[in-house]
Amino acid sequence: MSSSLDANQVRSLIAPLIDPELNRSLGELGVITKVEADHNGVQIELTLPTPAYPHPTRIANLIREALSTLVGETPVEVTFTSKVKGKHAGGNIGLRVANVIAVGSGKGGVGKSTVSASLAYGLLKSGARVGLLDADVYGPSIPHLLGVSGQPEIKQFTTPDGRTIDRIEPLESDGLRMMSMGLMVPAEQAVVWRGPMLHKWLTQLLHQTNWGELDYLIVDMPPGTGDVALTLSQTVQLAGAVVVCTPQQVALLDAVKAVSMFRQVKIPVLGMVENMSGDIFGRGGTRKKAEEMGLPFLGEIPIDPQIRIQGDAGKMSRLFDAESPSREALTNVCQQVALQVVRELLNAPAMPTLEIL
Ligand code: ADP
Repeated sequence: MSSSLDANQVRSLIAPLIDPELNRSLGELGVITKVEADHNGVQIELTLPTPAYPHPTRIANLIREALSTLVGETPVEVTFTSKVKGKHAGGNIGLRVANVIAVGSGKGGVGKSTVSASLAYGLLKSGARVGLLDADVYGPSIPHLLGVSGQPEIKQFTTPDGRTIDRIEPLESDGLRMMSMGLMVPAEQAVVWRGPMLHKWLTQLLHQTNWGELDYLIVDMPPGTGDVALTLSQTVQLAGAVVVCTPQQVALLDAVKAVSMFRQVKIPVLGMVENMSGDIFGRGGTRKKAEEMGLPFLGEIPIDPQIRIQGDAGKMSRLFDAESPSREALTNVCQQVALQVVRELLNAPAMPTLEIL
């Protein structure tokens, strides 16, 4: 066996390997952040574009296989870390968020808020920094699902240039930062809001909330109408929207409307999620519809009484506990959404660069 293993040689063998999820080479993805090799062993560190990457051990296996002839019996250690990639597009309003993800549906009652909260907790559990903004003015249910109530605190901060600014402190539930239109205004007042009022409140909640630095901000959208989506698309450059629907035909038609609404306001649609899959409503309708529309299918969540029970108890994070029956399905949806965000970024045309003459 060679006693002079060379890191460059290792790198050149693993750089062309194709990532099974993103379908690009590890070299092209820029995920190989450390390669060390000597006669004691090989250490490789990969920095994945999301901590919600499913089964990274598959990449480790590909690497071991590719290196087997070169290294022989020398141990190969592959470690994983992550750095979330994103559009970081809220800079002009002081929002430090890599990816803003809207969650919408064609109509109420399909589990849109449940999916929003699950996405937020799932990404949080994977290790990401996550915030959840409830923008469903007409039926703000996130505070209930997260078991929080009361008015958020307003705190004063001094900016580096000496100005005093007010910031709304988000409420926290099991480590998740959350803000809701429902906490700031009485429901009966918000119900009659249209364009300009909505615009004002939403922009305020986006840029005056003390979100801190986030990898993902999940926005629970009101069902159907386009007012909030329009404001959102004008204020930040979204990573994209997830459309939730149930498997029945009628709900699917509503979902098609939601997809066209997002497209109209130039928010890219990341894909569709089927909620309440199972015996009562059927199964698989959303996957078919997504395929017809050329959209990714981002997974299905079964009907599970625990989802309603934990939602009612304000304990949505428990759905990710080891014994939760829907944990796997929910985790899969979170991973698929996170991957789709990365795929969109990879497919986006490169930003024009200034040529310096
Ligand atoms: P929407 O935001 O679309 O109006 P919600 O998320 O508020 O819908 O969900 C409506 C009701 O359905 C809630 O009581 C919720 O707990 C329940 N629910 C949502 N998804 C599921 C599921 N997969 N299994 C069981 N109950 C669910």
